[in-house]
Amino acid sequence: MMMAEPLRFTALRGTLSRDASLARYTSWRCGGPADRLYVPADRADLAAFVGQLPAEEPLTVIGLGSNLLVRDGGVRGTVVALHAALGALAQDGELVHAEAGVASPKVARFAALHDRAGAEFLAGIPGTIGGALAMNAGCYGGETWRYVARVEVLQRDGRFVVRTPDAYRIGYRSVRLADGGPPDGLFTAAWFAFPPGDGHAARERIKELLRRRIGSQPLDLPNAGSVFRNPEGDHAARLIEHCGLKGFAIGGARVSEKHANFIVNPGGAGTAADIEALIEHVRATVRLRTGIELEPEVRIIGEAAP
Ligand SMILES: Cc1cc2nc3c(=O)[nH]c(=O)nc-3n(C[C@H](O)[C@H](O)[C@H](O)COP(=O)(O)OP(=O)(O)OC[C@H]3O[C@@H](n4cnc5c(N)ncnc54)[C@H](O)[C@@H]3O)c2cc1C
Repeated sequence: MMMAEPLRFTALRGTLSRDASLARYTSWRCGGPADRLYVPADRADLAAFVGQLPAEEPLTVIGLGSNLLVRDGGVRGTVVALHAALGALAQDGELVHAEAGVASPKVARFAALHDRAGAEFLAGIPGTIGGALAMNAGCYGGETWRYVARVEVLQRDGRFVVRTPDAYRIGYRSVRLADGGPPDGLFTAAWFAFPPGDGHAARERIKELLRRRIGSQPLDLPNAGSVFRNPEGDHAARLIEHCGLKGFAIGGARVSEKHANFIVNPGGAGTAADIEALIEHVRATVRLRTGIELEPEVRIIGEAAP
């Protein structure tokens, strides 16, 4: 593998590593290294770092890696990991302000404690607010962008802009710019307008949603949630189960027996190549047997191992 040229930075307070394994940054517990991995100290430090990156340097952002397959050959360019930094969470007038590194379940509990309704669905989504904004994460009838009043975006030149949702075209697990282009920059924070509600009822709903998840999802094994988007009017899990694929394995990766739209990687023993081959096998089988083309919901990044 070609080693990336060292880049020069000044006055940084975060941690910069080279050739850093991303396996421990993903919930599937596998994947290759980033040429450069930066864990910023805070929001200002992140801006200082991004502002110093050459414009042509590829930049990838990860939150908790709970929707991410990093190929075994790793990610070229620079990766920034936001979960350990950007953790501010507070009321801002009638809004809830959360920085992008805050875990989504924490926002659900915070909103309930402050007698806000609607955020409960975030309790079972084990990613960051940045990831929830990028994916328009949702479940049980709730969706991230339904409650967004404003977002803060860090642009590649190191400057922040604040935008309202009309700057974006929001769909099912999809966020584009209003002109249809891919979102630019990094989400660094959001202000949510959760309506006033009964905090006790919200806490009870959170408990109920978590009970449902424990009963239906293989949460004891490394996984990345639903692998495929639900096709219009159907469920990917139903189609995969119908094709007899529950328990089907390639290398260390296996279609979960508990939830057919989950792929588990027990002990992190499987490679990203195993998981990707299994994704392709499930797609091909469902296509052949039902004529339906499943589209991955997980994001696949990086290069295959040489
Ligand atoms: C057990 C389990 C259950 C799940 N259940 C659900 C569910 O019910 N509903 C659901 O929608 N998802 C679910 N997921 C998937 C996942 O948790 C969500 O997509 C989550 O929002 C991803 O957040 P993350 O921080 O882990 O993002 P990552 O996986 O780190 O990144 C995902 C994508 O978002 C981008 N991204 C991350 N942070 C930023 C940022 N700050 N700015 C710009 N782009 C960014 C990344 O570049 C990447 O393309 C589940 C996952 C697991 C493991």
